[in-house]
Amino acid sequence: MSDRARKLKFKTETKKILDIVINSLYSHPDIFLRELISNSSDALDKLRFMMLTSPELASDRELRIDIIPDKDARTLTVRDNGTGMTDDEMATELGTIAHSGSRGFIEAMDMSDGEKTPELIGQFGVGFYSAFMVADKVEVLSRKSGSDEPGQRWSSTGHDTFSIKQEDNIPEGTSIILHLKEDMSEYLDGYRLRELVRKYSDFISYPVYIETGEEEEKEEEEESKKPVNTQKPIWTRSEEEVKDEEYNEFYSHLSFDIQKPLSRLVFHAEGTTEFYSLLFLPSTRTMEMLMPDYKTGIRLYVKKVMIKEEADELLPRYLRFIKGVVESGDLPLNISRETLQENRTVRIIRKALTAKVLSWFSDMLENDPEQYEKFFMNFGDLLKEGIYSDVQQREKLADLLMVWTSRSGDERKSLRKLVEDLPEDTDRIFYITGSDRKELASSPYLESVGKADVEVLLFDSPVDEFMLQSLGEYKGKKLISLLKEVDIEDLTKAEKAEKKNAEETYAGLLEYIKDQLGDRVEAVRFSPRLKDSPCILVSDRNDPGEMFRQMMKTMNQEIPEAKKILELNPVHPVISMLQELYDKERSGDRLKNYVNILFDLGQIMAGGRPGDPVAFGKRITDLLSGT
Ligand code: ADP
Ligand code: MG
Repeated sequence: MSDRARKLKFKTETKKILDIVINSLYSHPDIFLRELISNSSDALDKLRFMMLTSPELASDRELRIDIIPDKDARTLTVRDNGTGMTDDEMATELGTIAHSGSRGFIEAMDMSDGEKTPELIGQFGVGFYSAFMVADKVEVLSRKSGSDEPGQRWSSTGHDTFSIKQEDNIPEGTSIILHLKEDMSEYLDGYRLRELVRKYSDFISYPVYIETGEEEEKEEEEESKKPVNTQKPIWTRSEEEVKDEEYNEFYSHLSFDIQKPLSRLVFHAEGTTEFYSLLFLPSTRTMEMLMPDYKTGIRLYVKKVMIKEEADELLPRYLRFIKGVVESGDLPLNISRETLQENRTVRIIRKALTAKVLSWFSDMLENDPEQYEKFFMNFGDLLKEGIYSDVQQREKLADLLMVWTSRSGDERKSLRKLVEDLPEDTDRIFYITGSDRKELASSPYLESVGKADVEVLLFDSPVDEFMLQSLGEYKGKKLISLLKEVDIEDLTKAEKAEKKNAEETYAGLLEYIKDQLGDRVEAVRFSPRLKDSPCILVSDRNDPGEMFRQMMKTMNQEIPEAKKILELNPVHPVISMLQELYDKERSGDRLKNYVNILFDLGQIMAGGRPGDPVAFGKRITDLLSGT
């Protein structure tokens, strides 16, 4: 065994964090303790899990965390008997950044101008490296649990390098020894340490002991035999006895989110299957959360053992933005992480939890609309994903929708409330889709059904077209796109009659128009749905829609433009005027020109431009000059 120390360099990213931690004026040095305790707790979790499969690791010893202040040596040691680290693990884990919190910290630092540094350190914690906020030298003694290899001592002053040296007599687990800076003596004080553990680490499920020195009071020595933390997992405690700060602290431990959660759900299910759950909604959304492969932040515990950190079997994929913990004693400890999905109890939990989560959302919509609006702004698209992916919950998810309408102004409306307020006999809800709701609010398509009489829904998110197609109807009312051709099925009796009547009265004219437009249109029809406009260009009912076309284009797939259908308003004066021309002078240029103008107007109203702008200009000029 060599007793030479290996000297290694920190990786660039780590170096950057260390420089910031050491050189900044920190406003939250306290958090170092919570970070070290949290690492110990993780190491104990790992060991407890390994004990399930490797009985040779099992023993009667208590899994624990010890905090040992030494006033003479001016050191503070945080010790655990968890998994420990091998020589290699020490070199990589403590020399590079694996930690998502630290990575997030670096990103936030790059975006800020450096002024926010102290706050950022406080919020992120930056893991192990926060030790250098209070210590000018840190040593880590560690030995891998169950290994025959000797342990090793890692040592660094937080500058460019660290060293690792093998050493005998290192116990299994890890001890972090902090050589405290001059002005950090407060962290040698038993009372102060106890206060910090209670404040930040009470939810840790292993006992944390604070060792007190000989010079301390007798009474305090008695104290040191008892753990400082309550250890009762926060998710099994009743909501009344836990403070908001404790929940928030736990959330940040879980999610590495620097912001407070928007809302939380504490739910204890009893009955055939019992489980505890504590779930949080983040108050902002990251782009990653929208990605289909984003990992859920739900941890699964079975009898105090963390079985899986990203247990995405517990909620449907579209609820992947929820963070939290689920614990059940009804699952076997030896359940495989891989086959969770096939487990019957897991499926029961998933079902109950999903229902509970959806009612959590609908309660929020009912009781705290302001908070709900924030929630929907961030995660509405994911609920919509649920509408097209989860048939069973479709109705419930639709109840949670917030929509813009032709009358909503700058405030979204609840779809459910809006529909409840509709006149009893309404069986159609009209909508249009596009990419900008302000543009949609002034779309000529609203005109087509009579803007004053009908409230039209405006959908401006790329996922809306998918969602609407799978939803089809809501509370027995059919959802109808004004951008698509009229479906005879959707017309009232009177409208059907009106259409039939128009087709008979204007049969010759209709043929004439079709001839004139030739293959510029797929069809020409009468639509009794039209109110204010003389005509409108719509797409085929099966057209996937413009938003879909654009989305496919970004994926380099071109979907050809569909040919449009020209719909005419049978009761508009323009039609009777055309009929008059048709009767009197159908062979002249006038009728032909008017039909062309009508079609070009349709294109302009649809947001396009006339096929031949010069010809269009000439026709309009002729019209204006009465020739
Ligand atoms: P994180 O805890 O998010 O992974 P940290 O910077 O806090 O990031 O810790 C870095 C890594 O160092 C941990 O992932 C772990 O592998 C290792 N480590 C730190 N403390 C301990 C410990 N007490 N026991 C075992 N491994 C540890
Ligand atoms: Mg950590």
